[in-house]
Amino acid sequence: MKHDANLAPYAARPEASRGRRFPEPPPASRSEFQRDRDRIIHSTAFRRLEYKTQVFVNHEGDLFRTRLTHSIEVAQIARSIARNLHLNEDLVEAISLAHDLGHTPFGHAGQEALNASMKDYGGFEHNLQSLRVVDELEEHYGAFDGLNLMFETREGVLKHCSHANASQLGDIGLRFIQRKQPTLEAQLANLADEIAYNNHDVDDGLRSGLLTTAQLDEVDFYAQHRNEVEATYPGISGRRAIHETIRRMINALIVDLINASQARIQDAGVKSVDDVRNSSALITFSDEMQQQAAQLKRFLRENLYRHYMVNRMTSKARRIVHEMFDAFMQEPRLLPPDYQVASDDGDNKMRVQARKVADYIAGMTDRYAIREHRRLFRIDEI
Ligand code: MG
Repeated sequence: MKHDANLAPYAARPEASRGRRFPEPPPASRSEFQRDRDRIIHSTAFRRLEYKTQVFVNHEGDLFRTRLTHSIEVAQIARSIARNLHLNEDLVEAISLAHDLGHTPFGHAGQEALNASMKDYGGFEHNLQSLRVVDELEEHYGAFDGLNLMFETREGVLKHCSHANASQLGDIGLRFIQRKQPTLEAQLANLADEIAYNNHDVDDGLRSGLLTTAQLDEVDFYAQHRNEVEATYPGISGRRAIHETIRRMINALIVDLINASQARIQDAGVKSVDDVRNSSALITFSDEMQQQAAQLKRFLRENLYRHYMVNRMTSKARRIVHEMFDAFMQEPRLLPPDYQVASDDGDNKMRVQARKVADYIAGMTDRYAIREHRRLFRIDEI
C-alpha cells in the first residue's frame, strides 16, 4: 500500500526508518507511523492526559485546556503545516500526541518539584520521562515493554535532553552529543507545541479572569489582530472577539512558519533526511515573527504564569509532590507493591527505589495526586 505519494524527498519515510527496537512484521492496512499513532492513542498514559494540566489545575474549571486537549491542538496545527510542506503527517501526528506523555501532575510546578526531589538520584526531565513511558513503562504487549515505536517517533518525543542523560541513551541520545537535528517532523511538532500553548494560554488566561484584554493590548501581535477583528466586525465584543483574535493569531503563526520554513529548506538544498540531520534547524518562524512570539511569551510569563493566584496553586502543587516523594522514600512500604523495590537489590537500591517513586508520581493525574496526598497524610482518609 502506498502511503507517501506526496512526500517531499526530505520527509521521513517508514521504509527509510531506523525501525523499531524489537522487529515486528509490517502492518497490513496502515503505515508504520500510523501504527505508532494508534498505539499512542490506546496507551494508558494518553488517557491520563485528560486529567493533567499545565497552567490551571484540573478541578479549576471544565473549559480550560488539559494536556489531552493541548496535545490534540498540537497535532492539528502540526498536521496542517506538515501537509503544506509535504512532510509525513502520520509521524508528526504521532509525535504531537505523545510529546507530553511523561508530564507530571500540576504542570511545570510538578516537574520542578520532582526534579528537585530526584536531585541525588539522577534528576527528573519530562521529555526523558515521555520516552520512558513509550519505551518502558506502558504494559500493553506480550513481546516487549512499552509501545515499541519507530526510531523517528521516539526521537521526536525526546525533544530536549541533558548531555549527561543523552550519553546514557545510546542511538536515541546521540544527536544531542553530535549536535545534529532530528527530522523536520520532530522540529515541526516542537514549534506546533509552542503555537498551541501561547495561544490557548491567552484564551484560558482571559477565561479565568487572571488576564484582561486591556493588558493584552500591550502585546503588539495581539493588538494588531484585535484591531483587525474590530475593523471587520464593528461593535464585536466578549468571547466572540477573543476567539476571532486568537484564530487569526494562530493562522498568522502557521502561515509564517510554512513560508519561512519552505524558504529555509530551499536555501539549505536538503534532499534527504540525512541532509536535514546535518543541517541547521530548518523549521523556523521568520525573524520578525520570532520577535512577536517572544514578546507574547514574555507577557504570559510575567502576567499569567507568575500571577499570584497561579503561584498559590503551584506552591501547593510543589508541596504535595515533595511530601509524597519524601514519605515514599522514608517508607517504601506505603507504595503499591509494583513500585516497591525488593530489599536485596544492593547498593543501588535507593536509586532504583527513587526512580520507581518518580515513575509513580509522574504517572499521577492532578486529582489522583491530590487524593493520594490526602490518603497519606490525613488520618480520616482511607
Ligand atoms: Mg506540550
